[in-house]
Amino acid sequence: MVKNIAVIRGDGIGPEIVNEAINVLDRVAELYGHIFNYTDVDMGGCAIDKHGDPLPTSELKKCVESDSVLLGAVGGNKWNDVPGNMRPEKGLLRLRAGMGVYSNNRPAKIWPQLSSASPLKKSIVEQGIDFIIVRELIGGIYFGEHKTEGDTAIDVLTYNEAEIERIGRIGFETAQKRNKKLCSVEKSNVLDSSRLWKKVMHRLSTEYPDVELTDMLVDNCAMQIVKNPAQFDVIVTENMFGDILSDEASQITGSIGMIPSSSLGASSCGLYEPIHGSAPDIAGQDKANPIGTILSAAMMLRFSFNMCEEANAIENAVSAYLDAGYRTADIMSEGGKLVGCKQCGKLIRDNLEKG
Ligand code: NAD
Repeated sequence: MVKNIAVIRGDGIGPEIVNEAINVLDRVAELYGHIFNYTDVDMGGCAIDKHGDPLPTSELKKCVESDSVLLGAVGGNKWNDVPGNMRPEKGLLRLRAGMGVYSNNRPAKIWPQLSSASPLKKSIVEQGIDFIIVRELIGGIYFGEHKTEGDTAIDVLTYNEAEIERIGRIGFETAQKRNKKLCSVEKSNVLDSSRLWKKVMHRLSTEYPDVELTDMLVDNCAMQIVKNPAQFDVIVTENMFGDILSDEASQITGSIGMIPSSSLGASSCGLYEPIHGSAPDIAGQDKANPIGTILSAAMMLRFSFNMCEEANAIENAVSAYLDAGYRTADIMSEGGKLVGCKQCGKLIRDNLEKG
């Protein structure tokens, strides 16, 4: 297959971690006979320096016209004083809006080799933590009317059936590519929008008979994520619930450098990025952990290109790297073998095998 990938290296550690992900993708292409073409896109602080704009229209166009976008990270102290609408992060918001990505997918996975990094009890971690939260990204209370009148503040929460249906479908389709269990999280004992959410999810479930759908109230879900995370495969939920639950979930897995994410819209063209920022404190020192970015590339293969075997191969290569005891500084523990960003990427690339 031939795929055109827009590549945003961005700022800080962005170029270092993205280079390692591309090295891994190149090896996947060799092993499986694919061609990945890369188009460089300027976004963030580097785009402000070069173009006077964090995401010029011409750069956004390259992303929209690609098969998918791989992003490192943007931002840094150098651009702290630029006006709000010209900040590096504005480029990212414009990119998400321009690509129309309404579904944010963040996996919560603990690698058994790093189980001691979790704040949860060993007995819970040992049951395995490996689930994805599918969060609606451009609707709900964050996008409703906000106003304050005298001593009263109002935030409006609205969802319509079409908005719920499109995110619901992403939830079902994600579950189809995993263990076929979907948990729909809402607050239908109190909120009308949640009752509509539940109704639409159950109507959709008739179209996905291979996926087991369950319902859970959001307060119970917050508790279950720390009490029994092994029960989850895919969670689908609305914007604010997903915002809170996905941060909770990322914390139970350990290091920020390990976690990838994807954002998808109506087309298969997605945005793939690690959840962390540009880490200016370690930029240019070959200390960054590129695994979150490498795993984001694996998500791109699985969710945008339907290359599940290739995605598994990358995840197996990461696992073999961790098994061998190699660790970047952020996940270093007693007895680990310290490596830098480049060596980490090379070792994972060298571990890649066709399944
Ligand atoms: P950060 O995530 O960049 O860093 C937080 C801490 O985690 C730092 O100590 C850093 O060294 C460490 N860290 C992060 N990623 C790492 C990795 N891959 N390997 C090893 N260590 C890693 O958060 P911050 O310091 O609050 O933000 C720095 C800049 O990044 C800011 O300008 C912020 O606006 C921006 N930011 C960008 C994005 C994005 O591009 N999506 C997201 C968050 C923050």
